[in-house]
Amino acid sequence: MSRFFSDKFAALTPYTPGEQPQDKQYIKLNTNESPFPPSPSVALAAREEGEKLHLYSDPENLRLRQKLAERYGVKPSQVIVSNGSDDVLNYAFMAFGDEQHPMLFPDISYGFYPVFAKLNRIPYTEAPLTADFRVDIKDYVNSRKTVVLANPNAPTGIALGLEAIEQVLSGNPDNVVIVDEAYVDFGGESALSLLPHYENLLVVRTFSKSRSLAGARLGFAIGSEELIRDLNTIKYSINPYSVNRMTEACGIAALEEDSYYMDNCRTIMETRCWTIKALEALGMEVLPSSTNFIFAKSDKIDGEKMYVELKKRGILVRHFASPRIREYNRITIGTQAQMERLGQNIEELLKDC
Ligand code: PMP
Repeated sequence: MSRFFSDKFAALTPYTPGEQPQDKQYIKLNTNESPFPPSPSVALAAREEGEKLHLYSDPENLRLRQKLAERYGVKPSQVIVSNGSDDVLNYAFMAFGDEQHPMLFPDISYGFYPVFAKLNRIPYTEAPLTADFRVDIKDYVNSRKTVVLANPNAPTGIALGLEAIEQVLSGNPDNVVIVDEAYVDFGGESALSLLPHYENLLVVRTFSKSRSLAGARLGFAIGSEELIRDLNTIKYSINPYSVNRMTEACGIAALEEDSYYMDNCRTIMETRCWTIKALEALGMEVLPSSTNFIFAKSDKIDGEKMYVELKKRGILVRHFASPRIREYNRITIGTQAQMERLGQNIEELLKDC
């Protein structure tokens, strides 16, 4: 830390993103990217837009918001887009969290939530998941806090039903409930249908997973016009151009071919089913997953050892050192061929244990 660094941030521990090693080619199952590239029209749109990079992007991203509004049956004024859903989530923490609105999220969830809270000096509580890693809805009803729930949750992969989300919404009428649906396209139930009934609902989504655009950085939120206006106040106070021209063009092109992406999601769900069976046949325990990853452990090998051994064999998975989950690894669902390689490598590993 330099002697110039503000005391405000001296105690901040930043989020640690998943490794993106450049030393060799890995089978990358560690950051929940799609194994499928974007559709060809996306690359074309990026190339064409590349020729206009001397001009600023549209700060309102109107064409993209119109497409999203059409796709999800809302008004463009109910949609905000930004540089990945991390960016949108940070706006939501800034807008809806403070001393009067402390935040509440599970103890095992997306690791960025406590970082956003600390960055913005928002008091927060982490409600423990149950022993089988489920959200206990009782913790969230009448909480008098701004609630953040990843649904499906990460890194567990477990989804909550819509009735549970509705209980949280109706049980916190004076607080915003942020539902982070980064993985919803892989089998979860979206809370978007509840929007007409709950002015306190904000749904956050990303193009990074189901729409194969992790590298483009594009996220969005849908909510009431009032909530979106609040988020825009924050966005326009930081960086109105947070979605660049190429990314906007990619997002529009992707939405024009949505069936390609939704087909890919179905393929990933089938591969997930195959992978769970394969790993269970090797004696591993796998939590039920509604996402493009699984959370799995073996009694024969320590979670960190499995991560290290797989990495030596050219397969990257994600290990978290926090006490309740250190036995597990989060494994992204790749192509069928990649998952077969994973299965063979785990089988060999476990033979030696
Ligand atoms: N929410 C959850 C639950 C995630 O796992 C991730 C991906 N790390 C994000 C949000 C952020 O995704 P992005 O910024 O790529 O949209």
